[in-house]
Parts: sequence; structure tokens; C-alpha cells
Amino acid sequence: MEPSHARRYTNAEIEVIAAQILSKAYPTGINIPIEIDLLAERNELVDDIVPIELLEDKFGVAAVLISKSNEHFDIFVDEDQFNYRQPRASYSIAHELGHIVLHSGVCEGCRTIEDSIALRNRITGVYHSIERSANYFSGAILMPRRAFPEDTAKIYEALVREYSYDNNIIPDKLCSTLAQRYGVYIPPVKIRLRELNLQRKIETALRLSSPYLDP
Ligand SMILES: [Zn+2]
Repeated sequence: MEPSHARRYTNAEIEVIAAQILSKAYPTGINIPIEIDLLAERNELVDDIVPIELLEDKFGVAAVLISKSNEHFDIFVDEDQFNYRQPRASYSIAHELGHIVLHSGVCEGCRTIEDSIALRNRITGVYHSIERSANYFSGAILMPRRAFPEDTAKIYEALVREYSYDNNIIPDKLCSTLAQRYGVYIPPVKIRLRELNLQRKIETALRLSSPYLDP
């Protein structure tokens, strides 16, 4: 499928899709951190997650989708990232899973790493919504809306008890605590806080010296 034919999604639609996948994987309640490897391997279009030596060094990418003759995909991930930088690997795997869930047809011709990178370059230049959707999906699946706002509020409340309403301390500690808990790295946490309107609530709560955050 040509990238120009890829379906466009609103953020709300991606939230629903991510929530459905999570409900299926965790029928009795979400366990944090999300085990994205298991979740990806459970997808019917995913065969394997394959660590590839020096993927990032040689090709400048952390992960790619490889389309196979059985119409399934392998997710190739940089081996070093997979073994030693799990939060980054998780985000990369979630991003590639997003491509499969949201618009697998776009990636179906990518038989080699080179194919996949050529497609990525085309998409990044012109069809930015495809990348944007995969990134949004990644945040939504790793930091579920069902759990993340409430956790943010709880952590905020504990932090202000310990450090008071210090604007130089609380936002950073909040981000690093959330990153640790959700097994992600800091930039996606900051993005997710903005997406769920929590960033504004944190700023307001600190300004008003509120001991609580309304999630
Ligand atoms: Zn992508």
C-alpha cells in the first residue's frame, strides 16, 4: 500500500485501539510496566522480535519492521539496545508494533532492512502523520490512560510531602519516577504528560501549593 493511502487516526482513536489491546492482554487489570515484547509477540502479524547486532551503528535506526513471505512481520531491534537499554528498546518495539496495528499495509513491501529504511525516509519526509501515529501509539500502550494519570497524581502527592512545592525539584523527580515505574525513558514521559493534559495540572497544582493532583 502507498503511504498516501494509509488511514489517518485521531489521538482518541489510537487511545481506544491501545486500550483494547491492553484489555485483552491484561483482562484482570494492567500490570505496570507493560511487557511490550510479550504484547508484540502476541499480535497475529508478528512472528518474532529479533535482536540485530550493530543495527543502530550500521543503519542509524533502533528498530525496523521486516515483512515476510507469509505476510507476517519480524521486528528487528538493535541488539545493544535490547540487552542494555531496555527503556529505549521498549519504546522502539512499541513504535513498530504501532505501525503494524495502525497501517501494516504500508510496510508490507519491506523485505530487507534497506527497504524498511527507504520507506521510513519517504514517510518522514512527506507522510508525517504515519510516524506521528506510531509514536502516539507507543506512548499510549506503554503508559496506559487507565493507569498513568492516577499514578502521576499519587507520585505527585508523595513528592510534595517530601520536597514541598519546589518547581525545580518536583517536575524532574516526577518524570524520573514515572519513567522508572513504566520502564520508559524521560522524553516519552514528558510527551505523555502533555498529551493527557497532566503537565498543565502539575504546573497549576504547584503554583497553588495544592497537596493533590486531580488526575
Ligand atoms: Zn516509524
